[in-house]
Amino acid sequence: MAKIAINIATGSLQQEEMIVGIDLGTTNSLVAIIHPESKMPVALKEHNSSSLVPSVVHFGDQVTVGEEAKKYLVSDPAHTIFSAKRLMGKTYNDVKNNSASLAYKIIDDENRLVKVQVGQQFYSPVDLSSLILKELKKQAEHILKTPVSKAVITVPAYFNDAQRQATRDAGKLAGLDVLRIINEPTAASLAYGFGTHKEEEKTIAVYDLGGGTFDISILHISNGIFEVLSTHGDTYLGGDDFDNAIVDHWITQLGLQGSVSESQHRQLLRLKAEEAKKHLSAHETFESVYESKNIFITKEVFESQVRPILDRTIVSCANALKDAGLEKGSIDEVVMVGGSTRVPLVKKMVSDFFGKPLNDRVNPDEVVALGAAIQADILAGNTKDILLLDVTPLSLGLETMGGLMDVLLPRNSKIPTKASRQYTTYKDGQSGMKIAVFQGERDMVKDNRRLAEFNLTGIPAMPAGLPKVEISFLINADGILVVKAKELRSGIEQSIEVKPQYGLTDEEVERMLLDSMTHAKEDMDNRALTEAKTEAEQLLQTTEKFIQRNFKELSEQELSATSLAMQALQLSLDMNDKNLIQSKTEELNEISRPYAERVMNNAVGKAMAGKKV
Ligand code: ADP
Ligand code: MG
Repeated sequence: MAKIAINIATGSLQQEEMIVGIDLGTTNSLVAIIHPESKMPVALKEHNSSSLVPSVVHFGDQVTVGEEAKKYLVSDPAHTIFSAKRLMGKTYNDVKNNSASLAYKIIDDENRLVKVQVGQQFYSPVDLSSLILKELKKQAEHILKTPVSKAVITVPAYFNDAQRQATRDAGKLAGLDVLRIINEPTAASLAYGFGTHKEEEKTIAVYDLGGGTFDISILHISNGIFEVLSTHGDTYLGGDDFDNAIVDHWITQLGLQGSVSESQHRQLLRLKAEEAKKHLSAHETFESVYESKNIFITKEVFESQVRPILDRTIVSCANALKDAGLEKGSIDEVVMVGGSTRVPLVKKMVSDFFGKPLNDRVNPDEVVALGAAIQADILAGNTKDILLLDVTPLSLGLETMGGLMDVLLPRNSKIPTKASRQYTTYKDGQSGMKIAVFQGERDMVKDNRRLAEFNLTGIPAMPAGLPKVEISFLINADGILVVKAKELRSGIEQSIEVKPQYGLTDEEVERMLLDSMTHAKEDMDNRALTEAKTEAEQLLQTTEKFIQRNFKELSEQELSATSLAMQALQLSLDMNDKNLIQSKTEELNEISRPYAERVMNNAVGKAMAGKKV
């Protein structure tokens, strides 16, 4: 395996080129760099403005991102998307219970990855995040007056493989070479200088309270390696709840509760409530005027309102400690992250719980981005005293439906490492499965490098979708990749050894990386189209089968509507138009869902009737 340091020597990281650190937050995002003169991390900002870019995208005559877009949250909510990060790598089923809290429409497609519908267009969370990243890149280039194409991006410690991959994809689509995805708490610890000395061994609690999410992570650092011992939190708890508490208070104060226009007043009061909250972080009272009436709130009242919310975060802290198998006393440092930790009561409660003073000297809105900039600097080879681990120089993955590359080990994974994922068959009675291993950054396997191929044979006859084939990639310390495939129901397995590096020069690695950058947009479009087509083809197949089996239970009208919708979908497939395919898929789903449910219920009813209780 190549070390990062070697890649630098061959020019894959040019020293003079800026590598930025990016905090892609749920509420706010920002970019930081190591200042070339002071060598200290700094957040980038235009003169007289904040370093924070609201993570909001508005689709109007043109697409706007950040402060501009935020203005439309009240005036044009249906076309204004916020908190897209919560949807990263999620299926509709994962998020449907919380969809009421979103002002925009997400499409109902059960186990497929969730998409947001804006007018006639569909956007994946990756598309939305890439728009935010593009804006950050643009602003950074404007401030630095130099192109920015390499970045380290942070994600919450609890993000799974799919969510990390989605974040990588978003970066790529925005024209960024994502050198590494690192955990937000790790970045925050780096910003406080923890983990930057080889001999250091420490256990750190990172308390992160943002706009709409809370998480607590317990990290252990030794030999410059950060290990996440446990994480806990609540993806629907944060500063927004503080704002709402203040709005509640004012609605009562103004005698507006229960009035017809209550919800409208709430909307209008929300921004002022945020202003009040921030003011109360440094003052005892806040006073203002709303529709020519006085409104006010004291710090004492504010604290009594938010204390129950904060109690929940403390319960999470206790749970995180328990999961890590630690007592409070084993925590060496407590690091405060997120804009909402500016509230004095938050600091007091956290410090009381852990029984120690806090690390809160670094700006809590910026600390994660600053840490990402430090990591970027380490990758650029500028910080010498940190251990560099061996990493995979290119991503490793498998060919899936439609010739798509499914990455199991993203590039820059430290080795030794291991990853596995489950796959299934797509034909009834399918007895073999071709496993083709590829290396590279492009979305279609035909553009990547084929490393090995083998067949898993002897899968017992089962209906399509039933076999569970687990494929695992394991890279040992020598850089040998072992790919194993095992059908879990029958236990049959096969494996193969590959040497991913074999025959690749550093220049070739470099060229493959560059290719993936130049073709990013085209690749993502291809991927989106292929995914939409695969989805549509599967839906056509299952609908066809369903009709064959159950046509007696369907009305004339249902049959003809279905047949029309199927024809329309087939036509859209022939036209190769992603958005059209998606909307026709959605239409066919909408037509078939009611009768599919009815037929299922009848079947269950019959089965029950046959049973004697
Ligand atoms: P995220 O990580 O979710 O993107 P941030 O860390 O940027 O979020 O935190 C944003 C939250 O911090 C918002 O709810 C904002 O109102 C709150 N916030 C910012 N400054 C202050 C302050 N001075 N006092 C209280 N809350 C603040
Ligand atoms: Mg954050």
